[in-house]
Amino acid sequence: MSSLFTSTFSDGRFTITFDRPDSAANIFDPATLQALEELVDSVTRLPSAKSLVFRTAKDSIFVAGADLNVLENASPEDLEMFLIQGQRVFQKIAGLSCITVAEIHGACLGGGCELALACDWRVASDDRSTKIGLPETQLGILPAWGGSSRLPRLIGLPAALDLILGGKQLAGRQAKKLGLVDGVAARERLGTLTDQLLAKGKPKRPSHWLTNNPLSALVIRRVAGGKAQARSRGNYPAIDAALQVVSQAVSGSLTDSMTRERAAVRILATSPEARQLLRVFHLQERARKFHFSPDPVTPNTVSRVAVIGAGVMGSGIAQWLAARKIPVLLRDIDPARVGAGLRSVKQLFSDAVKHRVFTETEAHRLSGNVIPSATVVPMQSIDLVIEAAVEDLEIKRKIFRDLAGRTRADTILATNTSALPVSQLAEDSEIGRRDRLIGLHFFNPVARMQLVEIVTTPHTSPEVVETALAFVRKLGKLPVVVGDRPGFLVNRILMPYLIEAGRLFDAGWDAKLIDEAMLDFGMPMGPLRLLDEVGLDVALHVAHTMQGAFGDRFAIPQILDRLVQNGFFGRKTGEGIFEHKKSKGKTVSDNALVRRAHGTAPANLPEKTAVAERLALLMVNEATRCLEEGVAHSEDDVDFAMIFGTGFAPFRGGPIAWAKALGWPVVREKLEALAAREGEAFTPSDWIRSQPG
Ligand code: NAD
Repeated sequence: MSSLFTSTFSDGRFTITFDRPDSAANIFDPATLQALEELVDSVTRLPSAKSLVFRTAKDSIFVAGADLNVLENASPEDLEMFLIQGQRVFQKIAGLSCITVAEIHGACLGGGCELALACDWRVASDDRSTKIGLPETQLGILPAWGGSSRLPRLIGLPAALDLILGGKQLAGRQAKKLGLVDGVAARERLGTLTDQLLAKGKPKRPSHWLTNNPLSALVIRRVAGGKAQARSRGNYPAIDAALQVVSQAVSGSLTDSMTRERAAVRILATSPEARQLLRVFHLQERARKFHFSPDPVTPNTVSRVAVIGAGVMGSGIAQWLAARKIPVLLRDIDPARVGAGLRSVKQLFSDAVKHRVFTETEAHRLSGNVIPSATVVPMQSIDLVIEAAVEDLEIKRKIFRDLAGRTRADTILATNTSALPVSQLAEDSEIGRRDRLIGLHFFNPVARMQLVEIVTTPHTSPEVVETALAFVRKLGKLPVVVGDRPGFLVNRILMPYLIEAGRLFDAGWDAKLIDEAMLDFGMPMGPLRLLDEVGLDVALHVAHTMQGAFGDRFAIPQILDRLVQNGFFGRKTGEGIFEHKKSKGKTVSDNALVRRAHGTAPANLPEKTAVAERLALLMVNEATRCLEEGVAHSEDDVDFAMIFGTGFAPFRGGPIAWAKALGWPVVREKLEALAAREGEAFTPSDWIRSQPG
């Protein structure tokens, strides 16, 4: 018996239940590992022990991994000790003569997954909270408690590389398909699965000889390396290191492979990339617990939601809510749009079935949570309304005036506007809900984007903010609270960057070069391609709103205006800055069409790094203005929102962390040099000027 685990022994079965006291998470630190080792040793000394079963007492966590604080703060010697300790304990589990089973329910990540890999059998619950994987490369390190060595042996090298290099987390059924777990069932049925597997004795696993031999491993490594390089562009040393260690794991001894795991982590753990990625992890954890109000405020429960507008965003939001078992009324004035919205909800559910997130039956049942409506319906039972109608202040005003008359006085009214001022709705006397009207800004596509901006006005009540925070978290999304200025935080910072990319393009710079420069910098997509994806018409509409508020920093380059006037809206019309053609299911982009419209000969090619720096500096400059104006409440909020709202190069830690790495005096100098040459957009903000040199 230990305070970190409970254990029982009966009928030859030893059961260890993870239940870290005073914490929602089970994690491994040196003391926990020591306690676990003592328990495993006691099993070794029990000749009557026929089996050892690991399970969790927590609602949504098996074991979430290693304690990252140890990783971040340990001296090189202590880090090595920690790595050796974990490897030794799991090696002891793997070496037990009794049969071992991991009953996985909830997050089984990193060290938790490595423990499961050391067991003979693994079974997993089909619960949404169950996520199995080795996400260490996302933190700038690699699995070093045997995970990099055992996973390729269990599921074959290609699948293991795919999981480890991508830091993927799998649902129970996805893990079963790969052979990572041996059975999937509802949580309460895991015991039955365990009994069935124990009856089979120790497993005989396939050797994967076709892929796991030195010659194939060489080829597989080259292919996987090429793909990883295309994604990471050499910005993630952990991915290169993992590629080496995991590929080598299939030949030679397990002990040698685990020595290579440790050697790699010793180097990676101190890299600037790992430091930034670990910080990003902490920012994410902070968003999961963060309270905006200094005083304790109890959030209200949101059980029923109405979404107004069944377009791209409305249907995306409705599907996401329905998938989380929240009944949602989806209302549009246009019956045809209600039908189209429902079809897109169904499509999103069938995509989820394809990815084994839900079974057909579950998807069918959950899609029933969306109640479509093209007529006026009673709204007294609705706790929260999310308006996602067209981006037009007058239309939104009308919608909210109507809602105010038909909802309860305590219903929260939220708008999903991209850039319109929330205060103008909150302060409308005919709406009369100034303390309960907020912005809830979801990003497109809702199913993929994790961030939701919660936009407060000076009138928003603390209870409404806390309720919105709790609601966003309940949806499994990441909230950030921002101030009410046009574009809020993410679009505000992104827009000058997109506009500048458009200006460079207008000046004759090559579109592909501009995009490549930002891909090399670490952005998930080039700025011009992003404009095409968002829709040039939509982006320019937002830019116009922002130009009205902030002046010519947001002036739209002629070429973009001309494209929109000619009906080139981007991907949705097949043509924008790039040409988007469907060819054998693939999208081929080329900018011939634009070159015709454009008419300017490409200028001398500038250095890609200079292009990237110029564009990134504009984001930094705007970000600091957001800090100055209180749109962002902290530097951490800026970095967090840009990483989770736009995919800003996570290994750089966000725009502010990137600027700090350059040094504020250098940032100021570079901006001033650009401002002297190029004009207002580059004038450093007072905030940057005030940073000590
Ligand atoms: P959309 O044009 O796809 O859908 C808008 C829907 O609202 C249409 O179906 C329309 O019939 C409906 N509508 C119009 N007036 C209505 C009314 N009075 N009552 C009920 N329904 C009404 O637009 P969208 O792209 O989904 O954008 C919706 C909102 O979300 C906008 O405010 C937009 O700025 C914001 N937004 C859009 C994105 C994006 O990338 N598309 C991202 C974030 C936020």
